[in-house]
Amino acid sequence: MSAEFDFSQWPPALSKTQLDALTLYSTTYALSHGLLYLPLIKPQPPIPSAAIHAPLSLFPSPFPRKLFDLARRIQRTYDTLYARIAMDEDFLDEIMGAETGVGKVDDFIGQLWKGWKQLRDDGLVQPLQLGLFRSDYLLHAPPNESISLKQVEFNTISVSFGALSQRTAELHRYLLNSTQYYNASSSLKADNFPPNETIAGLAGGLAAGHRAYNVEGARILFVVQHDERNVFDQRWLEYELLEKHTIRVIRQTFEELAHSAIVDPKTSVLHVKCSTDLHPSGLIEISTVYYRSGYMPNEYPTTSHYTTRFLLERSRAIKCPSIALQLAGGKKIQEVLTQPGILERFLSDEKKYGKDIFQEHKISELRASFMGMWGLDTGNDLLNPDTEAIKSGKEGYGVLKARELASSLVLKPQREGGGNNVYKEDIPAFLDSLPPKERQAWIAMELIVPPEGAGNYLVRAGSTGSESQNALKTEVVSELGIFGWALFGGSGTAVEEKEAGWLIRTKGKDSNEGGVATGFSVLDSVLLV
Ligand code: ADP
Ligand code: MG
Ligand code: MG
Repeated sequence: MSAEFDFSQWPPALSKTQLDALTLYSTTYALSHGLLYLPLIKPQPPIPSAAIHAPLSLFPSPFPRKLFDLARRIQRTYDTLYARIAMDEDFLDEIMGAETGVGKVDDFIGQLWKGWKQLRDDGLVQPLQLGLFRSDYLLHAPPNESISLKQVEFNTISVSFGALSQRTAELHRYLLNSTQYYNASSSLKADNFPPNETIAGLAGGLAAGHRAYNVEGARILFVVQHDERNVFDQRWLEYELLEKHTIRVIRQTFEELAHSAIVDPKTSVLHVKCSTDLHPSGLIEISTVYYRSGYMPNEYPTTSHYTTRFLLERSRAIKCPSIALQLAGGKKIQEVLTQPGILERFLSDEKKYGKDIFQEHKISELRASFMGMWGLDTGNDLLNPDTEAIKSGKEGYGVLKARELASSLVLKPQREGGGNNVYKEDIPAFLDSLPPKERQAWIAMELIVPPEGAGNYLVRAGSTGSESQNALKTEVVSELGIFGWALFGGSGTAVEEKEAGWLIRTKGKDSNEGGVATGFSVLDSVLLV
């Protein structure tokens, strides 16, 4: 029973000899089954000749079954919610736009929004939008409260580690079946290892977009970063598309697309020149543009990078995600969703979206997954906007409250990819240095309090693959991610969507952030308790 599971009893104790053996089984399985990463070499050679195993845990991490089921169930409501947000241009303009919203003070968001606005004014030709999502959660277990599920964030662009997380679940299942080390705990049994079919799930979303485009011979374009190390996670989706859906993929960077992408002025069809391919014309029609890039400002070092993004956006190809959907994934939107009446706007407007008898239930389930959030600019409008007034202590309610509660808060800007947040004791000095105008781009969020005492053995390859590896027993925090996809925009407000699998990443307890790519955490799998 989940409520009684003693997290501090995890993981089972192993001797050094046992641990070395389990590490060897794990790393060799990972290397044999494509649970891989490119080594840290700069610049990456165009044709790699070596790989290292992805960082991983030797045991799955305990997660209450009821909360795992809940996270999977509410994913479908989240898919629909974010699809509807992306279709609500007025809402996105107000919250994220450069006239009234975050785009006014955040240059990156402002640029994306202005480009999108211009394209809307010119007339966009592809009404369909595709999202591959990942909703992230931590277990929340403050003293004297029963354990619950709380959302960290909702990602709408370039969600990663779906494929490698399936491989990690397969690794742990293999360890269960093949080694005696998993006899060390009675919780380690097949019934408690949930299936993980994320590769099929995510490829299914991309294939749905491709089928909706419906042109024989068209391909899916993966827009990738030129120094990407997480290529195997992407390749598994490519192979799945080919083997299960007979869909071919092209991979190009923004820099390559600046020269290779052509949008037909009459039909708006997107073609990409592909010199490596023996296609008769050298020009390949694109059905779906799938971004595994494009979410950080440093990926747009010149205006030509924005021009390329907007060229793709303008085309008839289906974008995964559209700029609208990327903006919908902003942390500001997540905060606005906690305000009164906003969930109702998207989930219980019968006139707009039709009748759904489960509405009330769905809204309360989503709301129960929220932590408290507010904008740092809250209450600024009540002040004389002159900076001196704010400096002299007459601060808006948003900042005052953030100062007062700093030790239990995280501040977040509109950024993705890890490493951008400000935590606890760093907050007051950060608030002193933040120009008042920029408060609009930041939200404050209450910190989730994960269960105490859980540990795991974490194994990381040296960055070049040449160092020997020791599993490190560490107290940990595990972050669950649930994948989903949505295809929408075609006929009225209808949304086709599916839950598409899961991942769990585990980090050392003392690290605030938890990205695998940024080296803070390892890939893990779920042990239902
Ligand atoms: P990003 O889009 O950069 O991944 P996140 O909102 O996911 O930003 O924050 C990064 C990390 O910070 C998370 O993976 C989690 O480890 C930690 N974090 C974020 N919000 C909270 C929170 N409210 N409570 C505890 N930890 C958090
Ligand atoms: Mg995150
Ligand atoms: Mg994110």
